[in-house]
Amino acid sequence: MSELSELYQQVILDHNKKPRNFRVMEEANRRAEGYNPLCGDQLTIYMDLEGDVVKDVSFEGSGCAISKASASMMTQAVKGKSLAEAETLFEEFHRMVTGELDEEAEPNHLGHLTIFSGVREFPARVKCATLSWHTMRAALKGEEAVSTE
Ligand code: ZN
Repeated sequence: MSELSELYQQVILDHNKKPRNFRVMEEANRRAEGYNPLCGDQLTIYMDLEGDVVKDVSFEGSGCAISKASASMMTQAVKGKSLAEAETLFEEFHRMVTGELDEEAEPNHLGHLTIFSGVREFPARVKCATLSWHTMRAALKGEEAVSTE
């Protein structure tokens, strides 16, 4: 097993067991639900937007380890960012897991999120990894639901 996939497994397991920002946010001014029928992952993203800034973001729901770990890390990555920065992260993450962005060769803002690059080898898992990102983006746009179908 390569070093990266070992790290990947450890991080996924850790975030699955102890998801960060995993709570219903009463004061949220944006909220969107995401559903991935392929796997059964279901989650709700809560956001507290203040002007142009994601002041707070949280999630709750149920799903496989990849969807939960990805949501957990997405909230950490997006918290405190501007709307434009959150959009850039969405695009980079999406392009990375679909194989359009080579995170080694192209400058990007993904940081720890690059551990999800291995997902592109498993097309059925790409939707698990991107569900929280699509849902976060829907919430930013004021949409209330998104399905990866
Ligand atoms: Zn899944």
